Amino acid sequence: MRWILLGPPGSGKGTQAKKLADNHHVAHLSTGDILRGEVSGGTELGKQAKSYMDAGDMVPDQLIVDMIRRRLEPMGHKTGFILDGFPRNTAQADALAQMLSELNLSLDRVVLVDVSDKEIAKRLAGRARLERRADDSDQVIAHRLEVYRKQTAPLIEYYECRGLLARVNGEQSIDAVCGEMETLATARAVSRNG
Ligand code: AMP
Repeated sequence: MRWILLGPPGSGKGTQAKKLADNHHVAHLSTGDILRGEVSGGTELGKQAKSYMDAGDMVPDQLIVDMIRRRLEPMGHKTGFILDGFPRNTAQADALAQMLSELNLSLDRVVLVDVSDKEIAKRLAGRARLERRADDSDQVIAHRLEVYRKQTAPLIEYYECRGLLARVNGEQSIDAVCGEMETLATARAVSRNG
């Protein structure tokens, strides 16, 4: 299983990525989680990334692409992965394609966790109150959504054109979304065997 999960901030794709990775024994690569780990560990990368993250801006592509490369390269063919939060723009998607072709690997699927703008605004406002993430203040939320629309949403068409995109309805319960994901995973297994 080599999947990308795509979706706006607050779509629940992180939760789904974790479940999928557990169920299918594949690696969960969340660039947001990795970056937060780098920041709290006080590493050089963390120091470079922090101001972008706090502002809700994208961390420069090269830092992110190198960070992913360091994790994908040693995995080889045996380990599958779920990419969560990467790629986030077409330059990163091109870099990923290049990286995977060098490693002789290919993507199985890109799954969009589809949630309306209205629902996202509601969820993120709730998360800002509950979790107090530095990047969940109202202003930063609005900015992150804007960045998603401008930079990341074009990836929907990018992967649709490449015949890789599937959509799940992200406005259901966590278990129902997970069920749709598993149906996609099974469909893939059947077509591979058939
Ligand atoms: P997330 O947890 O996925 O919402 O990511 C939190 C923050 O980390 C984002 O707002 C960005 O500042 C940064 N980040 C995560 N993934 C990427 C990426 N692929 N490219 C650039 N910045 C990223």
